[in-house]
Parts: sequence; C-alpha cells; structure tokens
Amino acid sequence: SVPLSFFGGIGAASKQGILVKGSNYLEALNNVDTVAFDKTGTLTKGQFSVIKVTPVSGITQDELLQMAASVEKNSTHPIAASILDTYTGKILPVENATEQAGHGLQAEINGQTVVVGNAKSMTSAGVEFIEADAIGTIVYIAVNGKFWGDLVIADEPKKDASEAIRLLNNRGIQKTVMLTGDNKKVGSAIADKLKMSAVYTNLLPENKVEIVDNLLQDSHALNKKVAFVGDGINDTPVLTTADIGFAMGGLGSDAAVEAADIVIMGDEPSKVARAMKIAKRTRQIVI
Ligand code: ADP
Ligand code: MG
Repeated sequence: SVPLSFFGGIGAASKQGILVKGSNYLEALNNVDTVAFDKTGTLTKGQFSVIKVTPVSGITQDELLQMAASVEKNSTHPIAASILDTYTGKILPVENATEQAGHGLQAEINGQTVVVGNAKSMTSAGVEFIEADAIGTIVYIAVNGKFWGDLVIADEPKKDASEAIRLLNNRGIQKTVMLTGDNKKVGSAIADKLKMSAVYTNLLPENKVEIVDNLLQDSHALNKKVAFVGDGINDTPVLTTADIGFAMGGLGSDAAVEAADIVIMGDEPSKVARAMKIAKRTRQIVI
C-alpha cells in the first residue's frame, strides 16, 4: 500500500533523495534562519591527498610516512585513507591504538609511543614541534615524545558546495556557518571561497555543540530555528543539538543517519535548500 505521506512533502522529498523522519521537521524547515555545516566530508570532498612530506633531519620521508600510515591504519577518518593511499610500503605492527576525536591517534610501535594528529595532539602529548605554515590540513608525527615531522594534506570543496550556500542565500537565509576541527587557514580559505557568513575553526566535537547552542539562543529569540548539516564522523552530538539535524547519507556514518532528523542520500549539500523548497510548497498545499 502507498503511505499517505507519499502524496505530501515527505514523499516529494524522498523522490529527490531527501529522507525526512517526520512532517514536523518539514514544518520546522520553514522557520530556519541559520544553517551550520561541518566542513570535512560535508562541504569538502573528504578525499584528501598528501601534498607535502617534511621530516626533521635524520628521518627520511619514507620513515615518516611509514610511521604515520601504520598508525592511521587504525582509523576510518578521511585523513587516514589519504595517508594510506600515498604510502604503499610495509605497514608496521601496531598495538594499543586509540583515536581521539578532533585530535588524531596514539599507538605503540616496537615499544615506542607514536602520536599522529594535529597541533592540539602534539601539545597534549607535550611534544615540542615546529608549526607548519601551509594552506592544508597538517598532520604532525611524534615518536616517544620526539617530533619527527609533518604531512600536509589538501581537501577540496565539493562542486555543489557553493551552490548550497548560494541557494540558501536566495531563500533569504544569510547566516551560513562553518564549524570545523581543522585549522584557521584552511577553514577561512574554504568559507571565503564558498561565501559563507561565519567560520569557527579548531573545534572539538563538544565545541561544535557549544556553538550550535549559542546559535540556537540567537535564533530562538527571533522565533527562528537552526539546522546543522554533518557527514557523521564525530557529528552525532551536534546533529541532536540543532533544531533540525541533516546527515549526508552518502559518506555518513550509521550513527549520524540514526541521530539525524533528515538524511540526504548522496553527497550534495545543496539538497538542504531543496528540502526547504519542498517544505514551503508543502505548507502552501496544506493551508
Ligand atoms: P571536521 O570538523 O572538518 O569535519 P574532524 O572533526 O573530523 O574535522 O577532524 C578535525 C581535525 O582533527 C582534523 O582536521 C585533523 O587535524 C584532526 N584529526 C582527526 N582525525 C585524525 C586522524 N585520523 N589523523 C590525523 N588527524 C586527525
Ligand atoms: Mg567531518
């Protein structure tokens, strides 16, 4: 049998690859004034490639990559995939690998403690390191507390990302915010390119929740709502905090799809504005 909703907005949305978990979310979409986006995998392709390998003196590029790749073998983050694509040599046996969201990983290799991650991960491990200066995501590597060098990794905006922001602006939504765990240089470069209204960088998952909480207060004071769009890796808490959580189902994790109110099949962030268009049309039909 055909569900009743097939004839309404939910059915229209699902035909466009937008799965709405309840008609209340469509209704809420009509009142959104702020849309916050995760960066990696949501606005960018999430397909990183290693563009630079810089070991400290005494370490070869191959040794640095081998150490990083062996540790990243234990991660499903897009950064890990890029390092494993670049390094095709022997992977070393790793013990006790742990991943810390928004930081990176730590593991033991041949009895040595290896830390692979961003500047924050080096600082928390008490490693003295040389901060790299590049428009890219920088992955630092330390072995037994000693800095070994860094890798620069680049990730490009999706083709559809600027369209996503443009369509929201056209609908009168001017507050388009990027939330990212990545560094300021990368976050600002991409947010400027996409013409977003604000960007917050160097965030841990809990910081993303705090910022969305602040955005909620501002919007609710005006009787408006906040949507968040994420690809899933570490985004579950913020998906549930926002009034309307969108998960990108293409690359997204199962946990994100579960936590979301609306699931976008495929990887186009412009479907957020398309969902709003359907929501508006649906209301016009109902009234
Ligand atoms: P975003 O908020 O852009 O989606 P994440 O929250 O997934 O990014 O990650 C934030 C930052 O944490 C990354 O830019 C990177 O610096 C660091 N990081 C996270 N996971 C890893 C990993 N597996 N290896 C190295 N660095 C990582
Ligand atoms: Mg992400």
